[in-house]
Amino acid sequence: MSCCDAWLESRRQGQAVAEERHRILVAMAHPGDVEYSCAAAVAQWISEGCDVRYLLGTRGEAGMDTPEWPPERTARTREVEQRCAADIVGVNRVEFLNHSDGRILYGESLRRDLARVIRRVRPHRIVTLNYDLNIGARHMNQADHRAFGLAVLDATRDAAARWIFPELLNEGLEPWGGVKEVYVAATADRDMVVEVSGECVDRAVQALRTHESYIGDLDADGQVRTRAREMGREACYEYAVNFRVIEL
Ligand SMILES: [Zn+2]
Repeated sequence: MSCCDAWLESRRQGQAVAEERHRILVAMAHPGDVEYSCAAAVAQWISEGCDVRYLLGTRGEAGMDTPEWPPERTARTREVEQRCAADIVGVNRVEFLNHSDGRILYGESLRRDLARVIRRVRPHRIVTLNYDLNIGARHMNQADHRAFGLAVLDATRDAAARWIFPELLNEGLEPWGGVKEVYVAATADRDMVVEVSGECVDRAVQALRTHESYIGDLDADGQVRTRAREMGREACYEYAVNFRVIEL
């Protein structure tokens, strides 16, 4: 190998290592979950060079409680809105698992589907939504959030274990044990404060606004900016997004 070739090779390897370090899979139950919880952090990570992808458990088809919005129409609309919201913060890979909105079941099927994506994407960090009984001070969390978030945690281990879902090997998907941490958004407690820029907050506000079929006249700016300001206050940041961190 010539000197020049060696330099090119080391550069190529350096880029590969850099790419290895920065892959993040955001896995949440419904369209809009990312935008309600942590899209500003996603925008920040993308601005820092991370590769971020979205995985949604459902298309949110049961989310519109009116005869004018049957599930097929809702699913189509919310998928489009989710892809637009992702695009605004710089995420261009979005996929849906098509589990049933409102009826997500914790179990083998969901864990296998999640493990399949984790093995394919090979992320280093996974971000999911609060899976506790409560969300906020006193509100009962949704059943889908509880089932999906816990399944994400368990699927992270499943993805690394050769013989838990051996059928994935037949699909050419080797185990992936590279997930080092799961960030959980919208929890009451926090282990990690991610500082985000004003521009990232602006993008997160726009991203939430794209879910117009679902959020109606919700004050997206107040929802995102006010919370980001509150989350940053204790750490003396103008804006931040907080997470619980589970190490693996
Ligand atoms: Zn949700």
